[in-house]
Amino acid sequence: MSQKIVVTGDINGKLSEFFTKLSTLQSRQNFAFAIIAGNLFADSDSTSSEEAEDLAKLIKGDIQVPVSTYFTVGRRALPEAVVEKLNSSDGELCPNLIALGRKGRVKTSDGFKVVAVGGSHCTGDAPKDLYAAKYSDKDAHAAKGYNEADILVTSEWPAGVRDGSKAAFDASAEPPTAEAISELCTTLKPCYHFSSSDLFWEREPFFHASDPPRPITRFLSLAPFGNASKSKWIYAFSLEPSAEPPMQLPPDTTASPLLPSRKRKALDTQQDSFNTMRFSNNHDSRPRGGGGNKRRKAGPPDPGQCYFCLSNAQCESHMIGSIGTEAYLTTAKGPLPTLATFPDLGPAFPGHILIIPVAHTATLASIEDPAARASLEAEMHQYRASLHAMLAARSRADPADPASPSRLGAITWEISRSSGVHTHWQFLPVPASHISAGLVEAAFSVEAENAHYPTKFATAPADVAAAQQQGGDYFKVMMWSEDVPLGKEMVLPLDATFRFDLQFGRRVMGKLLGLGERAHWKDCGQSRAEEERECEAFKEMFAPFDFTL
Ligand SMILES: [Zn+2]
Repeated sequence: MSQKIVVTGDINGKLSEFFTKLSTLQSRQNFAFAIIAGNLFADSDSTSSEEAEDLAKLIKGDIQVPVSTYFTVGRRALPEAVVEKLNSSDGELCPNLIALGRKGRVKTSDGFKVVAVGGSHCTGDAPKDLYAAKYSDKDAHAAKGYNEADILVTSEWPAGVRDGSKAAFDASAEPPTAEAISELCTTLKPCYHFSSSDLFWEREPFFHASDPPRPITRFLSLAPFGNASKSKWIYAFSLEPSAEPPMQLPPDTTASPLLPSRKRKALDTQQDSFNTMRFSNNHDSRPRGGGGNKRRKAGPPDPGQCYFCLSNAQCESHMIGSIGTEAYLTTAKGPLPTLATFPDLGPAFPGHILIIPVAHTATLASIEDPAARASLEAEMHQYRASLHAMLAARSRADPADPASPSRLGAITWEISRSSGVHTHWQFLPVPASHISAGLVEAAFSVEAENAHYPTKFATAPADVAAAQQQGGDYFKVMMWSEDVPLGKEMVLPLDATFRFDLQFGRRVMGKLLGLGERAHWKDCGQSRAEEERECEAFKEMFAPFDFTL
C-alpha cells in the first residue's frame, strides 16, 4: 500500500519552529515518516542562544517530534552534545528522531528501505566515527552492498546528474558532486534520491539500464527551511515499499546520466557500435570502433562492411521480417513506440519497421539504371502498401466489418543524402486521425521552423515532385490513412547551409505521440531476446499480407 512521506532540506537549527510546522502538517497529512536530507543543526561556530536553547530542549525530549523522523549527517559536523547522545542511545536523539549516520540503512516500520550516505567527501579513509561528517569512496562503495533502496539520501550530489536535463538550475548553487554517489545510485536504483542545496532542483526522472520495465529514479534537491528566496524546502509524495517500476516511462524521462564516462565509453564500443552505425538514421552503415573517424574519411565502405547489406556477416538477421527481390524489412532497433503505444498491434510488437533496398546504394536517385531504380521503388512501395493493409486490418473499429474505418494510419520517412551509405525508409504507425486532421503535416512543418531550418517543406504535389527532381539531398515524409486515399507527401530540401538533425523524424513523431523521451533510438535499447520476440511477433502479424510468402 502506498504511504505518504515527507522530505526536507537543511533545517539549520530552527528546531522549535520546524517541528511545530511539521506537527501542523502531520495532523493533516498523516505521513508514514519524515526525512531531513540536509543539516538539521546550526553551524556550531555561529549558533545563536535561541538555537542553543532549542538544541538542549530537543536532546532532553522537550520538543515534540510528531512522526518518525530520520536525519542525515549533513555536510557539516554534528554538535558534540548530539554525537554524545547518539552514541549512548543507539542513534535515537529523542523519541521519534533517528540519525541515519554517515553510511547506513534503515527499514521503516512500513517496510521502506532508506539508505543514506552523509558528510562531505574525503579522499583516503573517513574517520571511524559513525556520525563524523565525512564519507570516503569506501563508504559509498560499501553502501552498494545494500543492493536496493526505495529512497537514497546523500549530502552530495551524484556526479553528472545534471547531464541530459533541461531543468533550469543556477549552477552557483550546486553542491559538491561525487562519482561514488553516482555509482551508488546506479547500483541501488532507488525510486527517489534526495539531497540538499541552497536552491531547489528537481531533475527529470531517469531510467537505469536494464530490461524493461526499467527502474526509474527521481532526483530532488531541497532548499533550506525558511530560506529567503522562498525556494522549495519540503517535498511530500506517496510511495509503496519495493514498488515495481512503472510499465510506461513517465513524461520527460531520460536515460540515466550517472554512468561514469569511462563506462559510457565502454558500453558504446562494445554493445552500441553496431547500433550507432545502423540506426543513427544517417545512412552511415560503417562499423565504428577505434578508427571510426579515419575510416569515415577513407570513402564509402564496401558492402562487406555495411550493416544494411545482407551479404555482411554482421547483419543482424534476427531482426529481418521479410526478404523480397529488391528490398527487405527489419524491425527497428530501439523502436520509437513502446509495446503500449499501439494496443491494436497486440502486446509484442511496437510497430516501427525499416524498409531497406537489398542493393547497396546511398540514395534511390543514384541508381543509374532507370529500370532497376523503378523496380526497387515499386517493391519498397509494395512493402509499404502491405504494411498499410496489415495496420488497417488490425485496427478496424469493427473487426468483423472490413468496411468499418481503421484507427491506424502510418507515415514513412526517407533521408536522402548523397553522402549516405545505404538508404532506407522508416515506417511508423500513427493514429489515422492525426493524418486526416493534418496534425502530422503541421508537426513536421512547425519543428522545421523551430529548428530554424532555412528551407521549408514542399507540400503541394507539384512542389514535392520538383523538390526531389532537383537531384539534391532531401528529407521526405509519406503519409497514409484510409480516409486520405491518395496519401500526402512533403519534402524538405536539404542543402549544405545547415546541419540537418538526423533524428528529426523520430523527434517530431516522438513529440506528437507523447514519446519525446524516446526520440533518440539509443535511449530505447533492447536485449537481443526482446528484439527476437518483437520480430517474431511482427512476422506472424505480417504473414497474411507478405507478398513474398
Ligand atoms: Zn549496404
